[in-house]
Amino acid sequence: MDAQPATALLDKPADPRPRTVLLAAPRSFCAGVERAIDTVERLLADPDRVEPVYVRKQIVHNTHVVAELAARGAIFVDELDEVPPGATVVFSAHGVSPAVRAAAAARGLTVVDATCPLVTKVHAEARRFAARGDTVVLIGHAGHEEVEGTAGEAPEATVLIDSPAAALALTVPDEDRVSYLTQTTLSVEETAETVAALRRRFPRLHGPASADICYASTNRQRAVEEVAARSEVFLVVGSANSSNSQRMVEVARRQGIPAYLIDDFTEIQPEWIVPAATVGLSAGASAPGRLVDEVLRALRRFGPLTVREHVSFTEDVFFAAPAAVRRRS
Ligand code: SF4
Repeated sequence: MDAQPATALLDKPADPRPRTVLLAAPRSFCAGVERAIDTVERLLADPDRVEPVYVRKQIVHNTHVVAELAARGAIFVDELDEVPPGATVVFSAHGVSPAVRAAAAARGLTVVDATCPLVTKVHAEARRFAARGDTVVLIGHAGHEEVEGTAGEAPEATVLIDSPAAALALTVPDEDRVSYLTQTTLSVEETAETVAALRRRFPRLHGPASADICYASTNRQRAVEEVAARSEVFLVVGSANSSNSQRMVEVARRQGIPAYLIDDFTEIQPEWIVPAATVGLSAGASAPGRLVDEVLRALRRFGPLTVREHVSFTEDVFFAAPAAVRRRS
């Protein structure tokens, strides 16, 4: 029999036994995502606005966020040639390469840059390392927008790897002049293994002054690890193209339990929940908190539910809006 979505259970709770949900904290929006969404919202709300607001790529990797902003008037495009000359375009939280900035200038676009400041930091490191004559080894996932933007800062000097095996197999023009950077949303544990392999391969390896994997990815992964160790199944709310959400699922699975990425409560399958007395729950950095509330409401349909929050870290990071939107507000 095909699995039923949780919605199918709304009128007939299948399993009345008590169950506990352990809510991992921190979860859901990070400071970079808040800032990027706020940027688009402020532009849409500008009373002097006469033109549409274009956004290059998904502002953050979440289908619900993008759908809600599109419903309010934002126009999402894949490339700048879809934006009329002279219009306003927002660059997403994942950042862009210098080539994209140049293309926007050539088209006469007004750019509002919502790149997360922690991604901008990695871009600056890429330029600095490449200017010293280093080969810049970027640890990240091919095809991810953030990786394309970072690699674009020094395309001739950058090589992309994603594993310890790739690190050990790497050949470079000068083994004494090698630096590494990472995508901001990687697995803390796996990246440490890849960096260790790079160090074995290139003992004079140079790295960033502080970790490139951002505070939000690190904190959410550690919180998932702690909660998953006390749970029988784990749900992460987030979209399939969200790198930090995918890593959270992997962290939970490393604790030896089944873990699932769901865009929202409608994707919950009863056979995941029914056998579990304790369900771990979190949300990726780009997933709205209200989706977690909806998951809790859906889980209550399975029987009596106790919700306990497990706080691993408290976060107080805030990034001010880009100057271009502060001036308009
Ligand atoms: S996940 Fe990290 S790098 Fe990405 S937007 Fe959030 S704070 Fe910035």
